[in-house]
Amino acid sequence: MVNRDNFRKIDPYVPGDQPDFADMVKLNTNENPYPPAPAVIEAAERFSAGRLKLYPPTDGGALRRDLAAYHGVAPENVFVGVGSDDVLSVIFQSCFNSGRKLFFPEISYSFYEVWAELYKVPYFKVPLKADFTIDADDYIGKENGGIVIANPNAPTSMAMPAADIERIVAANPENIVVIDEAYVDFGGESVLELTRKYDNLIVVRTFSKSRSMAGLRIGYAIAQSELISAINDVKNSINSYTMNFPSIEVGKASIAEEEYFRTTIARILKTRERLVSELSKLGFVTFPSSANFIFTTHKTVPAKEIFEKLREKHIFVRFFNKPLIDNYLRITVGTDEEVDKLVAALKVIIK
Ligand code: PMP
Repeated sequence: MVNRDNFRKIDPYVPGDQPDFADMVKLNTNENPYPPAPAVIEAAERFSAGRLKLYPPTDGGALRRDLAAYHGVAPENVFVGVGSDDVLSVIFQSCFNSGRKLFFPEISYSFYEVWAELYKVPYFKVPLKADFTIDADDYIGKENGGIVIANPNAPTSMAMPAADIERIVAANPENIVVIDEAYVDFGGESVLELTRKYDNLIVVRTFSKSRSMAGLRIGYAIAQSELISAINDVKNSINSYTMNFPSIEVGKASIAEEEYFRTTIARILKTRERLVSELSKLGFVTFPSSANFIFTTHKTVPAKEIFEKLREKHIFVRFFNKPLIDNYLRITVGTDEEVDKLVAALKVIIK
């Protein structure tokens, strides 16, 4: 019989459910409720499957070049991966090898702790302030082996000013600072431009949220070429051909669709405002969101109860059964119609 001591034991990251009901309202994994841009759908339909006999370029090829042009940097400043989870995972393996503790906020994307455990990076979870905001001073003048911050943060939805992030980056010149901008297009201030000025900053982005392409799996990092090259070396030591041809072709088409991109974001921001105001009438208190989701709590009804009753109605939101946040719900901003269904259900549950 196999010796179970040979198995790696790890508490895995727990992704949000992907339920599949015809009548469901799915507001639990921060997907974009709108389809990808028409040109993206056309590119996917046009893709010539005969090309699949060849290996794709190892570096994302034309997608990398187009992302570089879009952001006004060189291709050598761009690393492309299979969703930002892949990009972050390779960064965790490449950049935090000092033996000192990696700092990230105590309440943040729970994958950070999982990767730190998996890759045996020592870490310190930096407490948030009582109002769940991040205090930049907690990351300044403290010995650390690197810093990872999601901005806007998840699941709190709140953004830090770019000036605070610059202070952190400038105060830690020897350590790599990773800013995960998965949600920045919904109202955060990006620090992408600062990658020109600082050789210790990596900005990570994704096509999953603002570009409505969670299913394709494209993420990327922008940084100075020396850092990108170090990340590439690790990635090429794990799996060289991560970016497949369909992702490269279809991802390229998305970059060209700026107007559609801006329009869907504007719609989501409008719906977000309406959702927050409807919830407030029902007795919810919601943090100021800069993301495509909100983080909210009810004055009297426990979050777990609301979560379970919504689930019975096939309305899915996210509940984290974890210290500090177990009386909050994270709700993705859906379409207006989805938000109406949610609010109607909440009216019945709350009364
Ligand atoms: N960062 C944050 C903060 C996220 O919430 C997510 C989505 N779960 C990701 C990164 C990863 O997104 P993806 O792999 O789809 O790019």
